Amino acid sequence: MNRRVREEIGRFVRESPYNTNTGWEEPYFDEPLVGFASASDPIFKLYKEIIGEFHLTPAEFFEKTFSVGLERGTVICWILPISSHVRESNRAEAKWPSLEWARTRTHGETCNDKLREHLIAFLASLGHRAVAPMISRVWERFESTPVGIASSWSERHAAYAAGLGTFSLNDGLITERGIAHRCGSVITDLLLAPSPVPVQSHNANCLFSREGICGRCIGRCPAGAITEAGHHKERCRKYVYETIPSEAGDRYDVEGRGCGLCQTNVPCEDRIPDARNVSARVDPGDSGGT
Ligand code: SF4
Ligand code: SF4
Repeated sequence: MNRRVREEIGRFVRESPYNTNTGWEEPYFDEPLVGFASASDPIFKLYKEIIGEFHLTPAEFFEKTFSVGLERGTVICWILPISSHVRESNRAEAKWPSLEWARTRTHGETCNDKLREHLIAFLASLGHRAVAPMISRVWERFESTPVGIASSWSERHAAYAAGLGTFSLNDGLITERGIAHRCGSVITDLLLAPSPVPVQSHNANCLFSREGICGRCIGRCPAGAITEAGHHKERCRKYVYETIPSEAGDRYDVEGRGCGLCQTNVPCEDRIPDARNVSARVDPGDSGGT
């Protein structure tokens, strides 16, 4: 059944008209990565300590949605790698996201939402309940918490639990297809085999976190929101949701633009970076190359 679910997600991404950028006739996303976490994996309880009590476990999310408990189940997670033509366009930018990147942030995320809806319907056709936290009425956003802006479900943390990647200096998730992606998840009472989670630290794929080298994303951020200490969420939020709309809003034909400069033209853009290809430590003025 794991394979069937994996294939259904892959088929949707390949065939969905929502994954075609009509302006360029190119897909927003390449072939997805798919992983599975047990809904009762203790890591979800640990997230309540790391992120906050407001971050729900899969069982809590399921129970708030369906008013029934989830004794056994699965969190199905996917990574939608952003296609090369979109990444290349953003690589060339230094201050504002490219138009292709902005369209992917808006229309590509619509495709991601359609995938969430599709998977819920697919699981229902197999006789199982499912909820996609990010499009659920249960999902909540919290503006001010001890960890900054946060919400009751983190797609990146779910993907980490499903063995799809590890965290990075700039708060992304570096997967085997890199850091430039959108991700998603669905919680279901269908029992599937969990994916193996590599035995390594939670940030092993990031060269700075692992070896103290690289730091290219620091120099890529036009807002100064990334330092050797990590990602400053509020500075990033202000740049993405206030500075870009007010100073460059007329460059775009979509409302949601994202930014993603720290996810492109960096060694981890489309792969797990190899230390042998990154010679220097942090140089904030150097945006480096992939
Ligand atoms: S650019 Fe380098 S330091 Fe930044 S997230 Fe990627 S690997 Fe880590
Ligand atoms: S998304 Fe943009 S503003 Fe936010 S940390 Fe990355 S480069 Fe900086």
